[in-house]
Amino acid sequence: MKKAILLYLIPILFFQSAISQNRKIIDVHFHTRSAGDYGKIPPPNPITGKAPKADNNDMILNSNLELLRKYNVVKAICSGTLKRNADFISKDPSRFISSLEYPDHQNNALPDTLAFKKLCEEHKISAFGELGLQYEGELLNDKKYEPYLAICEKFGIPVAIHTGIAGPNTPYTCCPNFRIEAGKPLLLEPVLLKHPKLKIQLMHMGFPFLEDTKALMVVFPQVYVDISAVDWLVPKEEFYSYLKALITAGFEDRIMYGSDQMIWEDGIPLSIKNVEEAPFLNDAQKDKIFYKNASGFFNIQ
Ligand SMILES: [Zn+2]
Repeated sequence: MKKAILLYLIPILFFQSAISQNRKIIDVHFHTRSAGDYGKIPPPNPITGKAPKADNNDMILNSNLELLRKYNVVKAICSGTLKRNADFISKDPSRFISSLEYPDHQNNALPDTLAFKKLCEEHKISAFGELGLQYEGELLNDKKYEPYLAICEKFGIPVAIHTGIAGPNTPYTCCPNFRIEAGKPLLLEPVLLKHPKLKIQLMHMGFPFLEDTKALMVVFPQVYVDISAVDWLVPKEEFYSYLKALITAGFEDRIMYGSDQMIWEDGIPLSIKNVEEAPFLNDAQKDKIFYKNASGFFNIQ
């Protein structure tokens, strides 16, 4: 019995050490969450059923940092408020990169365009997102975002936008204005026409709008995707089928790993494991998805 358990554990231990020590990872979709962002008693992880252990801001920061170190996630693009991003950065300045999330969990207004330009000029933010405009039923093409996009284009700041769908019952719970229609990647075409040098990150790789995503990526080489959330929240075969379609279509140089880390300790390990185990990816492709593509997109040396 004991031997059987040991034989079962050896491959797991080997796998753990292989993924935690060898491959360098950039997480391009990481949230700097605070206690209370998901209610007083946060829900359990929808996949594993495990409740988050961390229940105050310090614990959340420390448990995330421990996870990133363990899995060799050497950089994380922090989507959150400037204040919370600063907390993470002060703890490990070389690991965390600030990106301005909007709307955020504290309902902060967008800085005015002068303040936003200053943030870009002074390298206080290196990306603009996650833009969860779909949760408000809004489009990036709305004219109120136009000056922000012009600034991002000028300073080479990537814009990271939530695309695709959201969890069950979203319009009945948190977000009555949420619309599936607003998450279609093709709706970004007018923005790309106006801003030919603007780098855009399609968060959640436009899932499940595969045809839209492929069309946009063929025509606009400055469009990259992140695989976040899809890589652990949807059935594995569904994730593989979508990712494989993008690889087959020739986009292996523009697909980036992201966890969409929120409050659970088991999302990052699960998403890394799913990519590592993808039977259709070779080692070079995994290196691109986990690190190389993001290092180019975000100019990380
Ligand atoms: Zn998102």
